[in-house]
Amino acid sequence: MSRHAQVVIIGSGFSGIGLGYSLKKERFEDFVILERSADVGGVWNLNTYPGCTCDVPSHLYSFSFAPNPEWSSTYSPQPEIRDYLHTCLERFGLRPHLRTGVDVTGAAWNEADQLWEIETSDGRWTANVLVSAVGPLTEPKLPDVPGIGRFRGKVMHSARWDNDYDLAGKRVASIGTGASAIQYVPRIVDRVGELFVFQRTAPWIMPHDKRPITDAERARFRRNPAAQKRERDKVYLSKEALLLGFAKQPKLMKLVEGLARKHRESQVADPALRAALTPDYLVGCKRIVPSNEWYPALQKPNVTLVPKALREVRENSVVDADGVEREVDAIIFATGFHVADIPFADRVRGRSGELLQDHWKGSPRAYLGASVPGFPNFFMFLGPNTGLGHSSMVYMIEAQVAHITHAIRALDTTGATAIEVEQSVHDGYNRRIDAKLATTVWELGGCTSFYRDVNGRNASIYPDWTFRFRRDNVKWRADAYRLTTGPASVTEGVTPAVAAASAIAR
Ligand code: NAP
Repeated sequence: MSRHAQVVIIGSGFSGIGLGYSLKKERFEDFVILERSADVGGVWNLNTYPGCTCDVPSHLYSFSFAPNPEWSSTYSPQPEIRDYLHTCLERFGLRPHLRTGVDVTGAAWNEADQLWEIETSDGRWTANVLVSAVGPLTEPKLPDVPGIGRFRGKVMHSARWDNDYDLAGKRVASIGTGASAIQYVPRIVDRVGELFVFQRTAPWIMPHDKRPITDAERARFRRNPAAQKRERDKVYLSKEALLLGFAKQPKLMKLVEGLARKHRESQVADPALRAALTPDYLVGCKRIVPSNEWYPALQKPNVTLVPKALREVRENSVVDADGVEREVDAIIFATGFHVADIPFADRVRGRSGELLQDHWKGSPRAYLGASVPGFPNFFMFLGPNTGLGHSSMVYMIEAQVAHITHAIRALDTTGATAIEVEQSVHDGYNRRIDAKLATTVWELGGCTSFYRDVNGRNASIYPDWTFRFRRDNVKWRADAYRLTTGPASVTEGVTPAVAAASAIAR
């Protein structure tokens, strides 16, 4: 027996909770949120490594419609963000809509019945609209090196930290130097016996401007939410200005480079170590990471920087690209996530029965990062080309909440059974994205990054002003979508009544 909901949302991170809030606001009650973990929060529930903190300022890394005057710091630690999402869930009345411990294993569009058929670890669901709110940082990636399965010691990924494992006195190899490693290495360095930090590519490290938020500030934000809104606006504008360097005039990134160089020079005295820590690509091409603790941690007596890739894992050791073998008790992989291949694309089948992943042939594209021709009534949060190198993903999520809510409302108010993005609109949008990408630091910066898909296209980054993304999402373009009733073979397109109704949908 299958259960039915008008809208099935997969995932209960910022995206799932944001959309739930919006649907409730519209007095739309027939939806469920399926969450595979035991608790809500998405990445902010799953990433529990020591020092896990958001490197985007707290005032901006939260919903604009749910400001939190209680943040303890200008950059929130993971437990506070997780607790914030818990509070949002309760405050928005979403608890009755939530089903935890439910893993969605597949979904297929049934054209005859105009429904999504959804297979889960807890049985079958059907839905009129399916929304993937799983986010891009959900599937941990291990490096493609031989021997990981043979290792006899402890293996963990940064996003699946085992807090019961005692690192005290252990010889540890930490692989990768992205945002995750840079946060946990300074927190474990004084506990472990010996630490080998494998750095394949040196990251750009900026000075961190974090500070505690004072009691007086919190009291002011509680009394006067407009004061917190002003802080949020200030942070937004300062972040947005960075896009000038990232996307409009990459040469401006030289200014940022200067700041990072000074930071390195002030923290690393040894010229040989400094050289090993100096990136060889333009700043911003990979994610810039703020830290005042990274360089000092690398200079502790029990740490060895291995400025090489990991090449192989053996039963009791790791081997670097030069063939040097080091015995270790534990390996921590801070090697990132499957980002550019878009999680869930390997589980969703559109009208033709084709998997979204196969449909994309290695290069994901979507309209506003949300919808794909041939996949009616299916929307994604943080799909292709929605990522940012400089600002808050919650801002992008809120924009998509508006767009997806519009689409659901259009279906609901017109009596149509299917809504599908027009191929020409989808293609035009992607041509604009490609043209904008061409002059950005992500293209011209001389690095390889996880932003690129298997064909080398940058499938991750949104290369324009975020307020444009917001505007394009918030303003519903009725001509972007085709609304139909009944199976395609019967209606062959838009019925006039539905088309007219779609034009008046807000
Ligand atoms: P990541 O940025 O993808 O970094 C993966 C690291 O693993 C890179 O340094 C990579 O080197 C390295 N690596 C891969 N294979 C290797 C090998 N065989 N040998 C040695 N090194 C290898 O992963 P992440 O640090 O988990 O961050 C992922 C994303 O999560 C971030 O970009 C960010 O969006 C998000 N994040 C955000 C925060 C936050 O505060 N908001 C915190 C943590 C993470 P190469 O550079 O050479 O590829």
